[in-house]
Amino acid sequence: MESGFVKDLEPKVYRGRIAPTPTGYMHLGHARTFLIAQERAKAAGGDLLMRIEDLDQTRCKGEFVSALEEDLRWAGLNWDEGPVRDASYGSCVQSERLGYFEAIWLKLRDLGAVFPCVCSRKDVQEAVSAPHQEGRELIYPGTCREKSITDLGEVDTKKVNWRFRVPDGERISFRDGNKGEVSYVAGEDFGDFLVWRKDGFPSYELAVVADDIAMEITEVVRGEDLLMSTARQILLYRTLGYEAPSFYHCELVKDENGERLAKRSKSVGLRELRARGVEPNDLMRMARI
Ligand code: GLU
Repeated sequence: MESGFVKDLEPKVYRGRIAPTPTGYMHLGHARTFLIAQERAKAAGGDLLMRIEDLDQTRCKGEFVSALEEDLRWAGLNWDEGPVRDASYGSCVQSERLGYFEAIWLKLRDLGAVFPCVCSRKDVQEAVSAPHQEGRELIYPGTCREKSITDLGEVDTKKVNWRFRVPDGERISFRDGNKGEVSYVAGEDFGDFLVWRKDGFPSYELAVVADDIAMEITEVVRGEDLLMSTARQILLYRTLGYEAPSFYHCELVKDENGERLAKRSKSVGLRELRARGVEPNDLMRMARI
């Protein structure tokens, strides 16, 4: 295992987490991020929790949950809590926590921080006047910003999309443990984002913040593809009245073509590596960025 991922840890009771999404098999990139999370938790003398993020009910499968536990254990991962129903906050499986997420969404609603939105993705695309730049996010044009639920007539409030109203023009800055100073401008880099989906499920941003609060996570270690999500999540912490945890975003492992790994990238799947006789000790060397 490489060292060097453990500098500058703060001396407080450390609680980290790994939060896989069971939509496929784990690959070298997951192993790298999670092993770094483990190394940081160990170095801080803290605990590591395993949470299953299975809110995407069409793509998440039970078979991938057991596979990921087996593959990650093989890779050398050990966690202190979860994902079974064994902790004070209940289960570490997000699909079993819908009542809790609903309560957090209702709190945001009571605070006036979110609004119901009837725009489809196509509506948003059509309403955005500037040409959409490749790789940049589509900024929500604000169509429903001033709407309240009574404007929608007789509707089930849980069967409507709800968005968080971002403070336009405000720079959201944070110090990332790996990337250093990072900042994004609300309303320019990202717009009003979904917190509740009309299928009756919370969005990723809401569920992650709600769970990291409930599970008393002190540091979030995850891939750098989620850097901008951190700015959104900081807004949620602030609105809900909680201090945000520290963040450590890891570089993503790329394939031979320089593309980020996908769950279908068989050549670097943990199952395939194991079948080829690769030893867990070699994983970090193989995943060198
Ligand atoms: N479940 C997310 C993923 O697999 C990670 C979320 C997070 O660490 O905040 O990409």
